[in-house]
Amino acid sequence: GISEIIAEGCEAVSDPFEALRAETMACTKCPLHSTRKNVVFGVGNTQAELMFVGEGPGADEDEKGEPFVGRAGQLLTKMIEAMGLSREKVYIANIVKCRPPENRNPFENESMTCIPFLYRQIEYIKPKIIICLGSVAAQNLLRTNVGITKLRGQFVDLNGIKVMPTYHPAYLLRNPNMKKPCWEDLQIVMKEMGLK
Ligand code: SF4
Repeated sequence: GISEIIAEGCEAVSDPFEALRAETMACTKCPLHSTRKNVVFGVGNTQAELMFVGEGPGADEDEKGEPFVGRAGQLLTKMIEAMGLSREKVYIANIVKCRPPENRNPFENESMTCIPFLYRQIEYIKPKIIICLGSVAAQNLLRTNVGITKLRGQFVDLNGIKVMPTYHPAYLLRNPNMKKPCWEDLQIVMKEMGLK
């Protein structure tokens, strides 16, 4: 009946993660909102033990409203599957939810304005482990200026969450010889998760 439909609607709105999604989808807090096609909130399992964090949407992601769906995204999917997982089992999000024009790195004011959405996603999902993809993601999440080559390969603690910085799949597409060290990082995560 109609009362059930209304009750269902109310339930959806009262879910804090859906409320956060709705708030993000309507956000105009930083200049990136004016050039985006779609807000790319995030995708996957909101109970995930493992989260992936990238830097921001590219052209394909902006078009589809989903993170990591282009060529780099296909490589990320392969990496996730090589770990014995699937995109549905993990959660994937970015530092900025709107595409920076020409795929430039997000400016500090943009990432600082947007990152509270990511913090709230992390707070809700409570992952055990976060894999940070690339320098921009790692430096913003871990509040450091250290480059990815130095950061990768070991866990960094973030309020009790183990963060593994590794290379961004787009970087791996340009530098295939870096796939091996990246795979080593993923194996450390797999061991921690009991996947190997
Ligand atoms: Fe809002 Fe983030 Fe998009 Fe900026 S990038 S408009 S802060 S959702």
